[in-house]
Amino acid sequence: MGKPTGFKEYDRKKVPWRLPVVRLNDYDEIYTEHKIEQLQEQGARCMDCGVPFCQSASGCPIDNLIPEWNDLVYNNRWKEAIERLHKTNNFPEFTGRTCPAPCEGSCVLGINHPPVTIKNIENAIVDRAWEEGWINPEPPVERTGKTVAIVGSGPSGMTAADQLNKAGHQVTVFERADRVGGLLQYGIPNMKLSKKVVQRRVDKMTAEGVTFKTGVNVGKDVDPKELVNEFDAVLLACGATKPRDLPIPNRDAPGVHFAMEFLTANTKQSVHGDSLGDGFISAEGKDVIVIGGGDTGTDCIATSLRHGCRSIVNFELLPKPPEHRAPDNPWPEWPRIFRVDYGHEEAEAKFGHDPREYQLLSKEFMVDDNGQLSGIRTVQVEWTKDEDGKWQMAEQPETEKVWPAQLILLSMGFLGPDQYLPESLGMETDPRSNFKAEHGKFATNIDKVFAAGDCRRGQSLVVWAINEGRGAARAIDVFLQGESHLPAPGLTMGTSMQVT
Ligand SMILES: Cc1cc2nc3c(=O)[nH]c(=O)nc-3n(C[C@H](O)[C@H](O)[C@H](O)COP(=O)(O)OP(=O)(O)OC[C@H]3O[C@@H](n4cnc5c(N)ncnc54)[C@H](O)[C@@H]3O)c2cc1C
Ligand code: SF4
Repeated sequence: MGKPTGFKEYDRKKVPWRLPVVRLNDYDEIYTEHKIEQLQEQGARCMDCGVPFCQSASGCPIDNLIPEWNDLVYNNRWKEAIERLHKTNNFPEFTGRTCPAPCEGSCVLGINHPPVTIKNIENAIVDRAWEEGWINPEPPVERTGKTVAIVGSGPSGMTAADQLNKAGHQVTVFERADRVGGLLQYGIPNMKLSKKVVQRRVDKMTAEGVTFKTGVNVGKDVDPKELVNEFDAVLLACGATKPRDLPIPNRDAPGVHFAMEFLTANTKQSVHGDSLGDGFISAEGKDVIVIGGGDTGTDCIATSLRHGCRSIVNFELLPKPPEHRAPDNPWPEWPRIFRVDYGHEEAEAKFGHDPREYQLLSKEFMVDDNGQLSGIRTVQVEWTKDEDGKWQMAEQPETEKVWPAQLILLSMGFLGPDQYLPESLGMETDPRSNFKAEHGKFATNIDKVFAAGDCRRGQSLVVWAINEGRGAARAIDVFLQGESHLPAPGLTMGTSMQVT
């Protein structure tokens, strides 16, 4: 346990982000340097609870050994802390930067005090480990002679590749994009997760023997059946990036784009320096409207601000969340409360107010005489529960409004994976069009073919992609070897699993 009286002595203190007015001028990460003493104090606040809800149940999806590394940080034993952290998490620098931290929502201290800053501590441990040179390529000592193809290089594909390579299998990752990382590369912006941080892991994995083949679209450039014949096992980790559309009048107006088109083009040109010409979508000097919230909406706001937009508004269909947990959302559930993310903070700093407008239904994109996008017409809605307790939405009379806009970004979630791979393989999908495979087994109805990550569970979180990548690697290892010593979430001590 950190310090027995730590939770009484110290308050929660987060590591601050860089000042919004400063960070708005660049695409560098928003974080400030880790404050070691402050983090040790936070480690000291951990109560080492008999049942650490933070690392189980509704807490961390990969069972990170949180109380253990809190204690190690408090005692200044950082090298042991990274060893503990790597036991359950292949890429703590990805989750330390991007995870919404369900662990903090279920920290026992959080019942009547602000929780321990678990995510900050995780990030500091791994950043320090890289700085100190404690993370280096460690190729497997022995090879099994078995080969595995992984389709998709997002966090689930990368995690599975890392694990299967550790088990001695020869892994090849096929990626249709021009760079490795999935949504870690083209999705989550550089401000939140530096692309150098992603590349550093890719380089380490390459040095350990994993092969990455970019610009290869399996199902278009390569017949997936060939992969199934050629490799001993195939893992589909293709993500779920089919965006939800908004089919209202004038949807085809120039200036209406899916969020991912905007964010991908920005990372390519503004961060990597690729020259996209007309393919770059600029928000400079424009009134921008982002439809839909969540991480993607926030990323669109933050990116538009960096382009120098004239104004920014973010539409939400649902009501504003409460400031504190509602009675039907008790601890240790994830708190569904109002949050101010980095993009909202930056919009407030630039324009003096939060950009979010709630309970707005979009009715029509407006175009001017030249066919150019000029705005959007909305109506206010009210939400009430019917007799069966189901939410019903009703448009409010005389609440129509036209908002000026020359750029509108659609960020209303994702509808599942592309279908050409399951179609060409004859693979079953579930009613939501995700690849059908049971969590824990990850096997599809096609022999030798497994599925993991967002393409199996639907658009989710980086930490869940890591969970699935670890689980699928173990299932594939069992399939190839008859047993496995790879740990998987829920089985972190590495128990051997026999095929039955
Ligand atoms: C804009 C945005 C911001 C987000 N921010 C956060 C955040 O802050 N925190 C968080 O936890 N989560 C966030 N998420 C969600 C998170 O990024 C995803 O849940 C996670 O990346 C899923 O990982 P994955 O490996 O399953 O799929 P992906 O990351 O989607 O990777 C799948 C990869 O497969 C490739 N692929 C697909 N089909 C083929 C094919 N046929 N051949 C070859 N390659 C193929 C794709 O090109 C892609 O690179 C965000 C998502 C978006 C869209
Ligand atoms: S991965 Fe996410 S849930 Fe797990 S310890 Fe880190 S921040 Fe918490």
